[in-house]
Amino acid sequence: MGLKPDVIVVGGGIWGASTALHVVRSSPGIRVVVVDRAPALAAETTGQAAGQIGQLRANPLMLRAVGYTLELLGSFRERTGHDPGFVRSGSIHLALTADRMTALRAMADRVRPMGVAVEELDGERARRLVPLLEPSALAGAVFLPGDAYVDAPQCARAYAAAAADGGAEFRFGTEVTGIRITGGRAVGIDTADGPLDAGSVVVTGGPWTGLLLAPLGFAVPVVPIRLQQMRTKPDPNLPAHHPVVRIPDASCYLRPERGGYLYGYIDPHPLAVDVAGGGRTIRTADIAVDEPLMAEARRRLAAVFPTLADFGVDQYRQGMVTCTPDANYALGPVPGVERLYLASGCSAMGIAGSAAVGSWLAECVIQGRPPAEIAGLDPARFGPQAADRGWLVERAREVYASYYSLSSRGATYGCATTPSST
Ligand SMILES: Cc1cc2nc3c(=O)[nH]c(=O)nc-3n(C[C@H](O)[C@H](O)[C@H](O)COP(=O)(O)OP(=O)(O)OC[C@H]3O[C@@H](n4cnc5c(N)ncnc54)[C@H](O)[C@@H]3O)c2cc1C
Repeated sequence: MGLKPDVIVVGGGIWGASTALHVVRSSPGIRVVVVDRAPALAAETTGQAAGQIGQLRANPLMLRAVGYTLELLGSFRERTGHDPGFVRSGSIHLALTADRMTALRAMADRVRPMGVAVEELDGERARRLVPLLEPSALAGAVFLPGDAYVDAPQCARAYAAAAADGGAEFRFGTEVTGIRITGGRAVGIDTADGPLDAGSVVVTGGPWTGLLLAPLGFAVPVVPIRLQQMRTKPDPNLPAHHPVVRIPDASCYLRPERGGYLYGYIDPHPLAVDVAGGGRTIRTADIAVDEPLMAEARRRLAAVFPTLADFGVDQYRQGMVTCTPDANYALGPVPGVERLYLASGCSAMGIAGSAAVGSWLAECVIQGRPPAEIAGLDPARFGPQAADRGWLVERAREVYASYYSLSSRGATYGCATTPSST
């Protein structure tokens, strides 16, 4: 087994890979081991993601997180030699109603002072960017030329390869069965292959983070919720590239991928998944395809993309996004245990914030405390209410369903205006 690692990261999704990278960068020579039960990196949620990195965010902390991800990934290949599949596509948000256009303008006005370029477009200018859209359906649009997307699993592999260059080690096919605590301090993990000691433990276990921490008496305030998308068959009539399109009035997003159109749908009646339900662990591959749901997405998109119906289905892709009751990440120390940290609750923006998540967790393990700016992401912020599963599920479903909503709580694009507002 070699020398005892200084840091064990449980979970080889994009958050675990980014954490490993930021730890080895912040503290050269430190020994980091990432452990995952899957046979390879990014085999669960990360492997399903659309990889979109958008800056139209209500929460300044999240906007800074996205800004750092864009900065890091924009030059990652040149700086590290590892290609994260970064495409500076820009993104366009379409309004189908005057009220939506007012809301988009308000969001644009909030992010501009933070250095984000946003242009307002009429329907014709929007069509010049996205040729197949029907401009008469639009009340207007905003365009963010700095937005991007990555190939999410490729991006996780690039983070991991750069981390490995700095000495991090990745072990796959290793189930973690528990966190070992001695004298109120995390001292390692138990695995199916035996125990492994470490100075600190970080759990980035995606939808399964709560299962690992429940035996310690801590209820992680996160509910996994199904998110589904599909890709059409490749077709020469579809543009190979254009900006990511978000249509909040239809609760959909869409972008070109592999010669087809990839589109996703935020279900207004979200399905919460009990990952320990039925006496066995539910994995990403167990999430069943819901074809009627995606037919509904296609119906909603038809007003803007009338030709979409002509293209057959190439692939359904679904997974679980982890949602908190206030739509912000749950990230930081596990209460009552020293040297143990967690990050989950991606709220469907885990790729977008992946670089910041890694840097925040690296600061946790290296400084022994979280950076001040993420106080509002404290996993313990909901107090004992987090143990009330019924409340948690209800709030998380509500938050997810309001991702694109125009209500007073809504139009959040995945995060509350202030980190702890509920
Ligand atoms: C359909 C879909 C589309 C999405 N689109 C976007 C998008 O466009 N933009 C965006 O920002 N986000 C998007 N997301 C969200 C994004 O995918 C997630 O935020 C991100 O992948 C979370 O990464 P993670 O590392 O936390 O989790 P995961 O990728 O799930 O990694 C967790 C890892 O922990 C491992 N693990 C768990 N328990 C154990 C154990 N006991 N022992 C060993 N290993 C364990 C798992 O095997 C897994 O590999 C999307 C998600 C879905 C489902």
